[in-house]
Amino acid sequence: MKDARVLIVEDNAEVAEMLVLFFGSRGLKVSVAPDGASALRLIREALPTLILLDVGLPDTDGYELFKQFRQGVRTRYVPTIFLTRRSRKSDRLAGLQLGADDYISKPFDLEELYLRVQNAVSRAEREHLSNPHTGLPTGPIVREAVAQAAEQPGRAVVEFRLLHTSEFRDLYGALAGSDLLRYTALLINRVLNTLGAPEDFLGQSGEEQFVIITAAERAPALRRAVLERFDSDVVQHYALAERIGAQVKVRDTAGRERLLPLIQLQAGDPL
Ligand code: CA
Repeated sequence: MKDARVLIVEDNAEVAEMLVLFFGSRGLKVSVAPDGASALRLIREALPTLILLDVGLPDTDGYELFKQFRQGVRTRYVPTIFLTRRSRKSDRLAGLQLGADDYISKPFDLEELYLRVQNAVSRAEREHLSNPHTGLPTGPIVREAVAQAAEQPGRAVVEFRLLHTSEFRDLYGALAGSDLLRYTALLINRVLNTLGAPEDFLGQSGEEQFVIITAAERAPALRRAVLERFDSDVVQHYALAERIGAQVKVRDTAGRERLLPLIQLQAGDPL
């Protein structure tokens, strides 16, 4: 829960600000989208772990927006709670019928909302539906997607794995390790958003393993782009470090110089 990143889709600036302050004070990372178009962009690019979705938006309604991102292979699993002003039962049920995780009616009680957010996030973690650090689908969702791809000619699975992360965690701590996971997830997602197709899948097959499922003919280029981008930027994760080939020269907390293996992203052949 402490790693949760909540996207608030709300056009009422006062309500949005109140939610930002409240969730911020509980240590959650919060971003706000005031309309459907910016919400869709943030959902695609920032991989939130949970969405609070106002039903009445200036450019669309929350139900339509929900249907849209639930159609996207990479955005369909994000737990979503509707914020609804409506008190009619049919309106309250509309979101749940579409597959939302929960709803809460305005004016809402902040503590209650917080509990519902906590429930939705821990449900996703408990059922291994999403990775708490990256928000990416994991466990059964990934296994099913990979099994399906194996039966479809023309689809390819590429697995990526982070190496030498334990040395990195020893040096900078667990939090930096989580940031690195999230960075890697965002990087692969960005490559898929620019070079891939909407139906390309991204998930985590292990704590430090990522899986993409794409068209066989796109797989080699995507694989190469992910590896190149990772490799060209990875040294930025180290403070004041000097890269020497596949190693990095850093200073530990005692100020001693050390030579460590650089974190590497390794990819299997497309299957
Ligand atoms: Ca509204």
